[in-house]
Amino acid sequence: MPQDTQTAKEALVSSVLIIGAGIIGAVTAYHLARRGVAVTVIERGRPAAGATAASFAWINASAGRTKDYFDLRQRSLLEYRTLAAGLNGGLPLEWSGSLIWDEDEVGDPADFAARYSAWSYESRVVEKDEVARREPAVKDVPDRAVLVPDEGSLHPVKGTLALLDAAKAAGANLIEGWTASRLVTRGDRVVGVETEGGEMTADCVLLAAGSDTQRLCDGVGLTVPIEASPGLLAHCKPHARLINHILITPGLHMRQDAEGHLIAGRTFGGGPVPNDRETEGRRLVRDIKERLKGADGLEFEAATVGYRPIPADGYPAIGFAMPGLYVAAMHSGITLAPAVGRFAALEILDGTEVSLLQPFRPGRFS
Ligand SMILES: Cc1cc2nc3c(=O)[nH]c(=O)nc-3n(C[C@H](O)[C@H](O)[C@H](O)COP(=O)(O)OP(=O)(O)OC[C@H]3O[C@@H](n4cnc5c(N)ncnc54)[C@H](O)[C@@H]3O)c2cc1C
Repeated sequence: MPQDTQTAKEALVSSVLIIGAGIIGAVTAYHLARRGVAVTVIERGRPAAGATAASFAWINASAGRTKDYFDLRQRSLLEYRTLAAGLNGGLPLEWSGSLIWDEDEVGDPADFAARYSAWSYESRVVEKDEVARREPAVKDVPDRAVLVPDEGSLHPVKGTLALLDAAKAAGANLIEGWTASRLVTRGDRVVGVETEGGEMTADCVLLAAGSDTQRLCDGVGLTVPIEASPGLLAHCKPHARLINHILITPGLHMRQDAEGHLIAGRTFGGGPVPNDRETEGRRLVRDIKERLKGADGLEFEAATVGYRPIPADGYPAIGFAMPGLYVAAMHSGITLAPAVGRFAALEILDGTEVSLLQPFRPGRFS
């Protein structure tokens, strides 16, 4: 049987070990626990302290360049509504919409909007006067931008902790401070992990270890190459509302959360981590002040650096990698979490193969 079609069909899955308590571990724990499975999440540090903590957390489908990738992202946006309803409003989401005028992201705005509209995703070109009306604080208003009204953001740490709480309420067990040092196999099947607490076994191990995925896969001869791509964000102290959308502008993307924090970064493309993070963070805040009216009182609070777990070809790696081992490693994990959580649970527990995930199987790297 080809690697990718190995599913849980052969064995009834009644227990799952999840390695990693970032957003992907949390959302999969939530879906699996709600199905009555014995779920244990093992986290070597604190929950939501990996890439998730340092994420810009823009929920979007407009960065999904290929149709397959777009389809998965768009589905995940819809799944956010279901997930939020399941948590009775406990997910800190904001559906502010995106305004994009960074040419690197949109190219020609009209082509960009036409492509996504044709994919049934509302996005339209807005002219200068509408941009100014929507974002009165912006000093240098572009002639045109693309408005994508259905996009938003999540408070990544609070959101992940809320999902873990809901998973625990449904019976999941979270072990903090333990490291899964290696995968344990019996024959050709993964049956558990080795930890400082001893060997732990389950019907299925779900690897949600972000940038550490390859290290654990190495031990069982699997290739799931992940680039840990660094990204720095500046966080400002709470300020009266300055911007209304997620703004993707040349050399600066920013959003303002419900508590008034402005969060900003320069590029989605990675790059070297500056030696002095705070200085770079303060530079970002200075740039925001230069670009926004009424922002003189904006104060730097912190600079964070996180490592985006990006599979070698840029696309997610989701699915069974060998019997008993399900991998879920990806960039854009904040956007993709709701779809990944729901679909991983379906594939692990019901033995189905979700068609939206077929282009993203980890076996493509073997
Ligand atoms: C600067 C930056 C900006 C980003 N912007 C966006 C954005 O705008 N939109 C978007 O959708 N995505 C964005 N991302 C990407 C997104 O944040 C990640 O894809 C997502 O957080 C990955 O979640 P995860 O749970 O897979 O990984 P992580 O959050 O890294 O969690 C993995 C967890 O596994 C634990 N772990 C690892 N190995 C072991 C082990 N052996 N034993 C026990 N525990 C282990 C780690 O401690 C960690 O807590 C951004 C990321 C960064 C860094």
